Amino acid sequence: MNFIGGKWVPARSGRTMEDRNPADLDDLLGEVARSDAADVDDAVDAAKAAYPEWFAMPMPKRGELLRRIGLLLENHKDELSHLMTREMGKTLKEARGDVQEGIDFAFFMAGLSRSAIGETMPSELSRKFSLTMRHPIGIVGLITPWNFPIAIPTWKQWPAMLAGNCSIVKAAEDTPLCAQRLMELIDEAGVPAGVVNLVQGTGEEAGAALVSHPDVRAISFTGSLETGKIIAAECGRQMKRYSMELGSKNVTIVMPDADVELAVEGIAWGAFATSGQRCTATSRVVSLHPEFAGALIDKVRTYKIGPGSDESVDLAPLINRTQRDRVLEYIRVGREDDGASLAYGGSALTDGVHAKGNYIEPTVFLDATPSMRIAQEEIFGPVTAVIPVDSLDAAIAAANSTKYGLSASIYTNDLTAAMRAVTELEFGIVYVNAPTIGAEVQLPFGGMKSTGNGFREAGIHAMDEFSEWKAVSIDFSHRLQKAQFQPGE
Ligand code: ADP
Repeated sequence: MNFIGGKWVPARSGRTMEDRNPADLDDLLGEVARSDAADVDDAVDAAKAAYPEWFAMPMPKRGELLRRIGLLLENHKDELSHLMTREMGKTLKEARGDVQEGIDFAFFMAGLSRSAIGETMPSELSRKFSLTMRHPIGIVGLITPWNFPIAIPTWKQWPAMLAGNCSIVKAAEDTPLCAQRLMELIDEAGVPAGVVNLVQGTGEEAGAALVSHPDVRAISFTGSLETGKIIAAECGRQMKRYSMELGSKNVTIVMPDADVELAVEGIAWGAFATSGQRCTATSRVVSLHPEFAGALIDKVRTYKIGPGSDESVDLAPLINRTQRDRVLEYIRVGREDDGASLAYGGSALTDGVHAKGNYIEPTVFLDATPSMRIAQEEIFGPVTAVIPVDSLDAAIAAANSTKYGLSASIYTNDLTAAMRAVTELEFGIVYVNAPTIGAEVQLPFGGMKSTGNGFREAGIHAMDEFSEWKAVSIDFSHRLQKAQFQPGE
């Protein structure tokens, strides 16, 4: 169902689409609305009707609603995590983390609602006072992917709400019910009707209609680079704001002095958590350590692969068959076209418990070179490529050699190597002695180069996505004062 103006409604056309469990394709979670431009029009009308009241509400009051939503999410964390595992496939532990991120950010934003969100500035003129304040953009569209079905929508929704916008969410086709539960809780917290609306459907229909609607003044998008370019082009044509969090090709450098056990643990977690379906997944390792590759394979050999609902599972299924086949094609490219050596994994699992799901073994390529396709393109699956190099200069050059720049890390105890990595890596997020995954909500999240267009999510930085700066000057001198002019001019 769609959530429009505080009411649950089907698509006007009556069309629906299926929602299935990636661990068991026979398990149909439900049918959800397949919306089009007519439903988007309704949602925009509802958002516009709600805007004046929401705009007028003091920010601490909006923050109070976010605090209530955070508490509700906490109360429903277990239920939401189980729904997420069934709908999206990730392990229950990861699903709990996903919900927790939404809770943490709700409380962070609630706190921010009573913090300084502007500045006071001196004026060069006497009896004139200057300040900056934020102004909401108005009606915003939030288009989200399936890999973090609660965390990513909340990263967009809370700052959009706090800044005073009304929004229309277009959730990913593969995780509509998580989006629906989130809306129910927002409603239960007492957020006025129309402030947040949900339109379910495909990207080409509902998503594109939201992007092209003239009254939607900004689009916040997380997804693939290809889709991001289509959305950016339309937003550019209409002169509307767009913020993009797109693909990446994240990397960890392992120096010869690294604690190799720690590096293996971190890289296995970074590469294979959520089956590599994270924007920050470690899909490349640039190694100068002679024992690293062998130790990584020993670790991966112990992995248990199965449904995310089994608490002992390390690697859960991929989101859908299309994605599974895309990852298998990359594995073929790695072996045949690139000529890297496939050291572990590489196949789909279709036996026993795996028969009805979208499973691929954890896959490790060795002897990759920086320019190979598997070392350049985002795979979004449980695949990592180890690139051997012989110097820190070569490691940093290899790390920086892709068009993306979201997350990078280095394992070393050498201060110089760590500091060179921190300063020279062209990535929006850099870790030392930690994996490429595991963002915290108070830090800015986003990437350089083709990963984005300069905005950051999370932290106080998220407010920049959803508000305009306003410079205000108040003159109480009761005479005309001219900036830049000398007295008497
Ligand atoms: P992925 O499915 O790999 O996460 P996509 O970029 O295809 O990446 O999808 C991310 C989100 O963007 C989804 O909610 C999807 O429905 C939506 N989407 C896809 N194509 C378009 C489009 N042309 N216009 C607007 N939204 C789109």
